[in-house]
Amino acid sequence: MDAVFKAPLTPDQIKDQAKSFGADIVGIADGKVMNEFPPDPANPRRPSDVTDYDGGRAIVLGKRLLSGPTRLTRWNERHKYYNDEITMTMLEEAALETVLWLEKMGYPALIIPPTHVDPWLYFGKPAEHLSPLLSANHAAVEAGLGNLGLNGQLLTPEYGPRLMVTVILCSVDVEPDSRRTEALCHGPECGRCLKACPGDVVQHWDRDWEGCDRYRSPHGFKEVSDFLQKVLEAPDSEAQVKLVRSEESFNIWQSTLRGAGVITGCRRCQDVCPVGQDYETMLADVLNDIAEDNADKQSRLQNMISEESKGNLPASHAAQIRWIGKRSEQTES
Ligand code: SF4
Ligand code: SF4
Repeated sequence: MDAVFKAPLTPDQIKDQAKSFGADIVGIADGKVMNEFPPDPANPRRPSDVTDYDGGRAIVLGKRLLSGPTRLTRWNERHKYYNDEITMTMLEEAALETVLWLEKMGYPALIIPPTHVDPWLYFGKPAEHLSPLLSANHAAVEAGLGNLGLNGQLLTPEYGPRLMVTVILCSVDVEPDSRRTEALCHGPECGRCLKACPGDVVQHWDRDWEGCDRYRSPHGFKEVSDFLQKVLEAPDSEAQVKLVRSEESFNIWQSTLRGAGVITGCRRCQDVCPVGQDYETMLADVLNDIAEDNADKQSRLQNMISEESKGNLPASHAAQIRWIGKRSEQTES
Protein backbone atom coordinates (compact mmCIF):
# COMPACT_ATOMS: atom_id res chain seq x y z
CA MET A 1 0.00 0.00 0.00
CA ASP A 2 1.12 3.55 -0.66
CA ALA A 3 2.41 5.14 2.57
CA VAL A 4 1.05 8.50 1.44
CA PHE A 5 -2.46 7.35 2.38
CA LYS A 6 -1.39 6.45 5.93
CA ALA A 7 -1.93 9.08 8.62
CA PRO A 8 0.93 9.21 11.11
CA LEU A 9 -0.29 7.65 14.40
CA THR A 10 1.09 7.28 17.93
CA PRO A 11 0.41 4.37 20.32
CA ASP A 12 -1.52 6.72 22.62
CA GLN A 13 -3.80 7.84 19.79
CA ILE A 14 -4.66 4.21 19.03
CA LYS A 15 -5.25 3.39 22.71
CA ASP A 16 -7.36 6.50 23.32
CA GLN A 17 -9.51 5.69 20.31
CA ALA A 18 -10.03 2.07 21.41
CA LYS A 19 -10.95 3.28 24.90
CA SER A 20 -13.38 5.82 23.49
CA PHE A 21 -15.08 2.88 21.74
CA GLY A 22 -15.48 0.99 25.04
CA ALA A 23 -12.21 -0.86 25.81
CA ASP A 24 -11.03 -0.55 29.43
CA ILE A 25 -7.37 -1.37 28.82
CA VAL A 26 -5.32 -1.52 25.62
CA GLY A 27 -1.78 -2.74 24.88
CA ILE A 28 0.25 -3.11 21.70
CA ALA A 29 2.48 -6.14 21.01
CA ASP A 30 5.12 -6.58 18.33
CA GLY A 31 3.89 -9.19 15.81
CA LYS A 32 7.48 -10.14 14.97
CA VAL A 33 8.16 -11.04 18.61
CA MET A 34 4.92 -13.07 18.73
CA ASN A 35 6.04 -14.96 15.62
CA GLU A 36 9.35 -15.68 17.31
CA PHE A 37 7.83 -16.87 20.61
CA PRO A 38 4.68 -18.93 19.93
CA PRO A 39 3.04 -20.11 23.20
CA ASP A 40 2.89 -23.71 21.96
CA PRO A 41 5.63 -24.50 19.39
CA ALA A 42 3.81 -27.77 18.50
CA ASN A 43 0.74 -25.72 17.45
CA PRO A 44 2.26 -22.25 16.98
CA ARG A 45 -0.77 -20.06 16.03
CA ARG A 46 1.29 -16.96 15.16
CA PRO A 47 0.16 -13.68 13.58
CA SER A 48 2.08 -14.79 10.47
CA ASP A 49 -0.19 -17.88 10.25
CA VAL A 50 -3.16 -15.52 9.89
CA THR A 51 -1.84 -12.80 7.58
CA ASP A 52 1.27 -12.22 5.47
CA TYR A 53 0.87 -8.45 5.49
CA ASP A 54 -1.09 -7.08 8.41
CA GLY A 55 0.35 -8.77 11.51
CA GLY A 56 3.05 -6.21 12.30
CA ARG A 57 1.31 -5.27 15.55
CA ALA A 58 -1.23 -7.05 17.76
CA ILE A 59 -3.42 -4.45 19.44
CA VAL A 60 -5.03 -6.10 22.47
CA LEU A 61 -8.28 -4.69 23.88
CA GLY A 62 -9.58 -5.69 27.32
CA LYS A 63 -13.05 -5.18 28.78
CA ARG A 64 -13.63 -5.76 32.48
CA LEU A 65 -16.31 -8.15 33.70
CA LEU A 66 -19.12 -6.65 35.77
CA SER A 67 -18.64 -7.00 39.54
CA GLY A 68 -22.33 -7.70 40.26
CA PRO A 69 -22.33 -11.09 38.48
CA THR A 70 -18.91 -11.87 40.00
CA ARG A 71 -20.55 -11.59 43.40
CA LEU A 72 -22.90 -14.48 42.51
CA THR A 73 -20.92 -17.35 43.97
CA ARG A 74 -22.44 -20.36 42.14
CA TRP A 75 -20.38 -21.19 39.05
CA ASN A 76 -23.43 -22.02 36.91
CA GLU A 77 -25.58 -18.91 37.40
CA ARG A 78 -27.27 -18.03 34.12
CA HIS A 79 -27.16 -14.36 35.15
CA LYS A 80 -23.37 -14.58 34.95
CA TYR A 81 -23.44 -16.21 31.52
CA TYR A 82 -25.74 -13.48 30.15
CA ASN A 83 -23.89 -10.54 31.71
CA ASP A 84 -20.58 -11.87 30.38
CA GLU A 85 -22.05 -12.44 26.95
CA ILE A 86 -23.23 -8.80 26.83
CA THR A 87 -19.73 -7.71 27.91
CA MET A 88 -18.28 -9.80 25.09
CA THR A 89 -20.65 -8.09 22.63
CA MET A 90 -19.38 -4.69 23.74
CA LEU A 91 -15.76 -5.80 23.43
CA GLU A 92 -16.46 -7.05 19.91
CA GLU A 93 -18.07 -3.73 19.02
CA ALA A 94 -15.12 -1.79 20.46
CA ALA A 95 -12.76 -3.95 18.35
CA LEU A 96 -14.82 -3.42 15.20
CA GLU A 97 -15.02 0.36 15.73
CA THR A 98 -11.24 0.44 16.27
CA VAL A 99 -10.64 -1.49 13.05
CA LEU A 100 -12.95 0.84 11.10
CA TRP A 101 -11.06 3.84 12.51
CA LEU A 102 -7.63 2.31 11.71
CA GLU A 103 -8.76 1.64 8.14
CA LYS A 104 -9.98 5.24 7.85
CA MET A 105 -6.45 6.25 8.86
CA GLY A 106 -5.05 4.08 6.04
CA TYR A 107 -4.14 0.86 7.90
CA PRO A 108 -5.89 -2.43 6.96
CA ALA A 109 -6.70 -4.39 10.14
CA LEU A 110 -8.53 -7.55 11.23
CA ILE A 111 -10.00 -8.95 14.44
CA ILE A 112 -9.00 -12.36 15.84
CA PRO A 113 -11.79 -13.17 18.31
CA PRO A 114 -10.83 -15.19 21.41
CA THR A 115 -13.68 -17.64 20.78
CA HIS A 116 -12.91 -18.60 17.17
CA VAL A 117 -11.26 -22.00 16.69
CA ASP A 118 -9.81 -23.63 13.58
CA PRO A 119 -12.46 -25.94 12.02
CA TRP A 120 -9.68 -27.86 10.23
CA LEU A 121 -8.52 -29.04 13.65
CA TYR A 122 -11.90 -30.53 14.60
CA PHE A 123 -11.71 -34.30 14.27
CA GLY A 124 -15.24 -35.42 15.20
CA LYS A 125 -14.65 -35.50 18.97
CA PRO A 126 -17.05 -32.97 20.55
CA ALA A 127 -15.34 -33.10 23.99
CA GLU A 128 -11.84 -32.42 22.65
CA HIS A 129 -10.38 -29.03 23.60
CA LEU A 130 -9.83 -26.72 20.63
CA SER A 131 -7.51 -23.74 20.90
CA PRO A 132 -8.38 -20.33 19.41
CA LEU A 133 -6.58 -19.23 16.22
CA LEU A 134 -4.36 -16.90 18.23
CA SER A 135 -4.01 -16.98 22.02
CA ALA A 136 -5.43 -13.63 23.15
CA ASN A 137 -4.07 -14.22 26.67
CA HIS A 138 -0.50 -14.66 25.43
CA ALA A 139 -0.90 -11.68 23.10
CA ALA A 140 -2.07 -9.62 26.09
CA VAL A 141 1.11 -10.56 27.97
CA GLU A 142 3.27 -9.57 24.99
CA ALA A 143 1.33 -6.29 24.91
CA GLY A 144 2.30 -5.54 28.51
CA LEU A 145 -1.20 -5.90 29.99
CA GLY A 146 -0.31 -8.54 32.61
CA ASN A 147 0.82 -12.16 32.87
CA LEU A 148 -0.45 -15.69 33.42
CA GLY A 149 -1.45 -17.31 36.73
CA LEU A 150 -1.26 -20.78 38.26
CA ASN A 151 -4.01 -22.14 35.97
CA GLY A 152 -2.95 -20.20 32.87
CA GLN A 153 -5.50 -17.41 33.31
CA LEU A 154 -4.55 -13.86 32.31
CA LEU A 155 -3.98 -11.58 35.32
CA THR A 156 -3.90 -7.80 35.07
CA PRO A 157 -3.01 -5.26 37.78
CA GLU A 158 -6.34 -3.46 37.28
CA TYR A 159 -8.90 -6.29 37.16
CA GLY A 160 -6.92 -9.43 37.98
CA PRO A 161 -8.36 -12.13 35.69
CA ARG A 162 -11.81 -10.51 35.60
CA LEU A 163 -11.74 -9.28 32.02
CA MET A 164 -12.10 -10.44 28.42
CA VAL A 165 -9.53 -9.68 25.76
CA THR A 166 -9.54 -9.65 21.97
CA VAL A 167 -6.84 -9.03 19.37
CA ILE A 168 -6.62 -6.73 16.34
CA LEU A 169 -3.82 -7.39 13.84
CA CYS A 170 -2.57 -4.33 11.97
CA SER A 171 0.80 -3.34 10.52
CA VAL A 172 0.70 0.17 11.94
CA ASP A 173 4.26 1.23 12.65
CA VAL A 174 4.02 2.38 16.28
CA GLU A 175 6.23 1.56 19.26
CA PRO A 176 4.98 -1.66 20.95
CA ASP A 177 4.58 -1.94 24.74
CA SER A 178 7.07 -3.83 26.90
CA ARG A 179 6.23 -7.21 28.36
CA ARG A 180 5.83 -7.27 32.13
CA THR A 181 8.48 -9.63 33.53
CA GLU A 182 7.48 -9.67 37.20
CA ALA A 183 4.77 -12.24 38.00
CA LEU A 184 1.43 -11.06 39.35
CA CYS A 185 0.33 -14.52 40.51
CA HIS A 186 1.03 -15.46 44.16
CA GLY A 187 1.47 -19.14 43.20
CA PRO A 188 0.31 -22.23 45.13
CA GLU A 189 0.72 -20.33 48.42
CA CYS A 190 -2.46 -18.59 47.28
CA GLY A 191 -4.01 -21.38 45.20
CA ARG A 192 -7.49 -19.85 45.41
CA CYS A 193 -8.21 -20.65 41.75
CA LEU A 194 -7.55 -24.33 42.50
CA LYS A 195 -9.59 -24.28 45.70
CA ALA A 196 -12.63 -22.75 43.96
CA CYS A 197 -12.61 -24.83 40.78
CA PRO A 198 -15.83 -26.91 40.58
CA GLY A 199 -14.29 -29.33 38.09
CA ASP A 200 -11.04 -29.61 40.06
CA VAL A 201 -9.06 -29.17 36.84
CA VAL A 202 -6.43 -26.68 38.06
CA GLN A 203 -2.97 -28.19 38.05
CA HIS A 204 0.51 -27.02 39.01
CA TRP A 205 1.00 -24.09 36.57
CA ASP A 206 -1.36 -25.81 34.16
CA ARG A 207 -4.98 -26.78 33.62
CA ASP A 208 -6.84 -29.77 32.23
CA TRP A 209 -8.40 -27.69 29.43
CA GLU A 210 -10.70 -30.44 28.21
CA GLY A 211 -12.06 -30.92 31.75
CA CYS A 212 -12.43 -27.15 32.11
CA ASP A 213 -14.42 -26.86 28.86
CA ARG A 214 -17.29 -28.84 30.41
CA TYR A 215 -17.71 -25.94 32.84
CA ARG A 216 -16.47 -22.99 30.74
CA SER A 217 -18.92 -23.92 27.99
CA PRO A 218 -21.61 -26.01 29.72
CA HIS A 219 -24.13 -25.66 26.86
CA GLY A 220 -21.54 -25.80 24.09
CA PHE A 221 -21.14 -28.14 21.15
CA LYS A 222 -20.57 -31.20 23.33
CA GLU A 223 -23.98 -30.79 24.96
CA VAL A 224 -25.68 -30.19 21.58
CA SER A 225 -24.00 -33.25 20.11
CA ASP A 226 -24.94 -35.47 23.11
CA PHE A 227 -28.52 -34.24 22.99
CA LEU A 228 -28.95 -34.87 19.25
CA GLN A 229 -27.54 -38.36 19.71
CA LYS A 230 -30.06 -38.99 22.50
CA VAL A 231 -32.89 -37.89 20.17
CA LEU A 232 -31.65 -40.16 17.36
CA GLU A 233 -31.35 -43.11 19.73
CA ALA A 234 -34.76 -42.64 21.41
CA PRO A 235 -36.93 -45.80 21.04
CA ASP A 236 -39.77 -44.23 19.00
CA SER A 237 -41.01 -40.98 17.48
CA GLU A 238 -43.11 -40.15 20.54
CA ALA A 239 -40.01 -40.30 22.76
CA GLN A 240 -38.12 -38.20 20.20
CA VAL A 241 -40.79 -35.47 20.19
CA LYS A 242 -40.78 -35.46 24.01
CA LEU A 243 -37.03 -34.85 23.97
CA VAL A 244 -37.30 -32.12 21.34
CA ARG A 245 -39.81 -30.31 23.59
CA SER A 246 -37.85 -30.93 26.80
CA GLU A 247 -36.26 -28.37 29.11
CA GLU A 248 -32.86 -29.65 27.95
CA SER A 249 -33.74 -28.72 24.39
CA PHE A 250 -35.11 -25.34 25.53
CA ASN A 251 -31.85 -24.57 27.39
CA ILE A 252 -29.78 -25.40 24.31
CA TRP A 253 -31.96 -23.11 22.19
CA GLN A 254 -31.73 -20.29 24.75
CA SER A 255 -27.93 -20.61 24.93
CA THR A 256 -27.48 -20.75 21.18
CA LEU A 257 -29.58 -17.62 20.84
CA ARG A 258 -26.92 -15.43 22.51
CA GLY A 259 -23.95 -17.67 23.28
CA ALA A 260 -24.72 -17.54 27.01
CA GLY A 261 -23.32 -20.78 28.48
CA VAL A 262 -21.56 -21.44 25.17
CA ILE A 263 -18.93 -18.73 24.79
CA THR A 264 -19.41 -17.80 28.45
CA GLY A 265 -19.67 -20.14 31.42
CA CYS A 266 -17.79 -20.98 34.60
CA ARG A 267 -15.30 -18.38 35.79
CA ARG A 268 -14.98 -19.24 39.48
CA CYS A 269 -11.16 -19.18 39.20
CA GLN A 270 -11.39 -15.59 37.91
CA ASP A 271 -13.91 -14.51 40.55
CA VAL A 272 -11.87 -15.53 43.60
CA CYS A 273 -8.39 -14.44 42.47
CA PRO A 274 -7.09 -11.74 44.85
CA VAL A 275 -5.03 -10.01 42.11
CA GLY A 276 -6.58 -6.78 40.78
CA GLN A 277 -7.52 -3.42 42.24
CA ASP A 278 -11.19 -4.43 42.13
CA TYR A 279 -10.86 -7.40 44.50
CA GLU A 280 -10.70 -5.73 47.93
CA THR A 281 -13.10 -2.91 47.11
CA MET A 282 -15.81 -4.76 45.17
CA LEU A 283 -15.54 -8.48 45.87
CA ALA A 284 -13.68 -9.61 48.97
CA ASP A 285 -16.65 -9.36 51.35
CA VAL A 286 -18.57 -12.10 49.51
CA LEU A 287 -15.75 -14.07 47.85
CA ASN A 288 -13.17 -14.57 50.58
CA ASP A 289 -14.83 -17.84 51.68
CA ILE A 290 -14.60 -20.64 49.10
CA ALA A 291 -17.32 -23.28 49.41
CA GLU A 292 -15.58 -25.69 46.98
CA ASP A 293 -12.38 -25.92 49.06
CA ASN A 294 -11.59 -29.26 50.71
CA ALA A 295 -8.80 -31.18 52.44
CA ASP A 296 -7.65 -32.94 49.27
CA LYS A 297 -7.18 -29.64 47.41
CA GLN A 298 -5.31 -28.17 50.37
CA SER A 299 -3.01 -31.17 50.53
CA ARG A 300 -2.21 -30.93 46.79
CA LEU A 301 -1.38 -27.24 47.19
CA GLN A 302 0.88 -28.07 50.15
CA ASN A 303 2.69 -30.58 47.93
CA MET A 304 3.21 -27.95 45.24
CA ILE A 305 4.57 -25.49 47.81
CA SER A 306 6.93 -28.12 49.18
CA GLU A 307 8.18 -29.09 45.69
CA GLU A 308 8.72 -25.44 44.75
CA SER A 309 10.68 -24.82 47.95
CA LYS A 310 13.07 -27.56 46.76
CA GLY A 311 13.35 -25.86 43.38
CA ASN A 312 11.18 -28.46 41.61
CA LEU A 313 8.90 -26.64 39.23
CA PRO A 314 6.89 -28.62 36.67
CA ALA A 315 7.75 -28.66 32.95
CA SER A 316 4.58 -26.65 32.27
CA HIS A 317 6.05 -23.78 34.28
CA ALA A 318 9.33 -23.82 32.34
CA ALA A 319 7.40 -23.91 29.05
CA GLN A 320 5.31 -20.86 30.02
CA ILE A 321 7.70 -18.81 32.16
CA ARG A 322 7.96 -16.10 29.50
CA TRP A 323 4.23 -15.42 30.01
CA ILE A 324 3.99 -16.28 33.73
CA GLY A 325 6.83 -13.92 34.60
CA LYS A 326 9.29 -14.41 37.39
CA ARG A 327 8.66 -14.40 41.09
CA SER A 328 11.46 -12.89 43.21
CA GLU A 329 13.51 -16.12 43.47
CA GLN A 330 13.19 -17.25 39.81
CA THR A 331 14.81 -16.26 36.54
CA GLU A 332 13.37 -16.57 33.04
CA SER A 333 14.92 -19.19 30.80
S1 SF4 B 1 -13.24 -21.96 34.37
FE1 SF4 B 1 -14.18 -23.12 36.05
S2 SF4 B 1 -13.68 -25.26 35.57
FE2 SF4 B 1 -12.28 -23.99 34.38
S3 SF4 B 1 -10.43 -23.75 35.66
FE3 SF4 B 1 -11.77 -21.98 36.08
S4 SF4 B 1 -12.95 -22.63 37.86
FE4 SF4 B 1 -12.10 -24.48 36.96
S1 SF4 C 1 -6.02 -17.26 42.50
FE1 SF4 C 1 -3.98 -17.05 43.41
S2 SF4 C 1 -2.85 -18.79 42.54
FE2 SF4 C 1 -4.67 -18.52 41.26
S3 SF4 C 1 -4.04 -17.16 39.60
FE3 SF4 C 1 -4.85 -15.85 41.22
S4 SF4 C 1 -3.05 -15.26 42.45
FE4 SF4 C 1 -2.47 -17.03 41.19
